[in-house]
Amino acid sequence: MARLIKGLDTKLIHAGEPEPLIGGAVAMPIFQSSTFEYTGEKSYHDLRYIRLSNTPNHAVLHAKLAALENAEAALVAGSGMAAISATLFTVLAGGGHLLAQDCLYGGTHDLMNEEFPAYGMAVDFIDGDEPATWREALRPNTKAIYVETMSNPLLQVSDLEAAVAFAAENGLLSIVDNTFASPINFRPAEIGFDLSLHSGTKYLNGHTDIVAGAVIGRAELIRNVTRTLNHLGGILDPHACFLLNRGIKTLGVRVRHQNESALKIARWLEQHPSVSRVNYAGLEGHSNHLRACELFDGFGGVLSFELAGGLDAAVRFIERVTIPINAPSLGGVETLITRPATTSHSGMSPQDRASAGISDALIRLSVGLESSDDLLEDFETALGA
Ligand SMILES: *Cc1c(COP(=O)(O)O)cnc(C)c1O
Repeated sequence: MARLIKGLDTKLIHAGEPEPLIGGAVAMPIFQSSTFEYTGEKSYHDLRYIRLSNTPNHAVLHAKLAALENAEAALVAGSGMAAISATLFTVLAGGGHLLAQDCLYGGTHDLMNEEFPAYGMAVDFIDGDEPATWREALRPNTKAIYVETMSNPLLQVSDLEAAVAFAAENGLLSIVDNTFASPINFRPAEIGFDLSLHSGTKYLNGHTDIVAGAVIGRAELIRNVTRTLNHLGGILDPHACFLLNRGIKTLGVRVRHQNESALKIARWLEQHPSVSRVNYAGLEGHSNHLRACELFDGFGGVLSFELAGGLDAAVRFIERVTIPINAPSLGGVETLITRPATTSHSGMSPQDRASAGISDALIRLSVGLESSDDLLEDFETALGA
């Protein structure tokens, strides 16, 4: 009988895994073969070849990721940016225009600003919290609206339901970068998003040892993005597929721990006299708290904050903490700390950063899986010093 696979945690372990097991192997083996014997495939895209993302290692991930977000289909890519660029080059092919949330992941923002013009594609940035202003940015060639589940590093939550409704009303595709929430906290297809994008480098893999990406959503769109990726070549190799699949199996226990630990840390920081501001959607005082409660099953493991002592205090704090590693990126098992002005958002001009609310003193924390009591003790010592 087929295995019973219903709950999210069962899907993490078993969805997409071969039945019967290959050679009885409990862990999916790595198919380290660039090409496969021809068995009469009719189309180029059906030839079995690693660059066409159709080896057994790809197939397991595609089925698993689609199941996790209750979507029709999925595709993995060589990085989050490969997933994002292949998707946007597909959706905006032939000179399309995009409406995109104004505070985006830096790489995505730069892709739109620096690469789009050369390919005849255009973008207008919109305030994700002000749906009434979106209509005036529409053009006859607008193809899609692009948002992120939670913005980096201020953890703002755009009006995601309005983005889906606006897309439907205006014949656009709705696309969301769901990296920060992960399928544990939010499944975009459930509220009607056409496509969900991930940097699998972050929570999905969770162990800070590969870069990977994913596109999840409607089957017809996934097919089209796959064809683009087949030509662009930014694919995930089978060994990285194996690692990503291994990482995904513990996504539930990791993200729930990170939700809990980040909330505890955010509350602790909020009441600390040396801390002037904390950004975390799980806090009652966050401007998007109610929306986040309605949409999400948890608020994620990333938060940001400022110290009363400003930039000097921030630099000292990062030097003095002993557990968090001073590094960009997020979503792994180890706690990472960074000042976005020097890393993730250093590509923005100081004026753009200031108008986005990202001060030089802002500290971003990606909470890992260490004991939260140890982290709090470490922070107390660093703040008291
Ligand atoms: C890291 C990240 C990306 C880019 O992913 P890579 O795997 O580094 O290419 C895209 N979106 C968000 C929200 C990210 O955090």
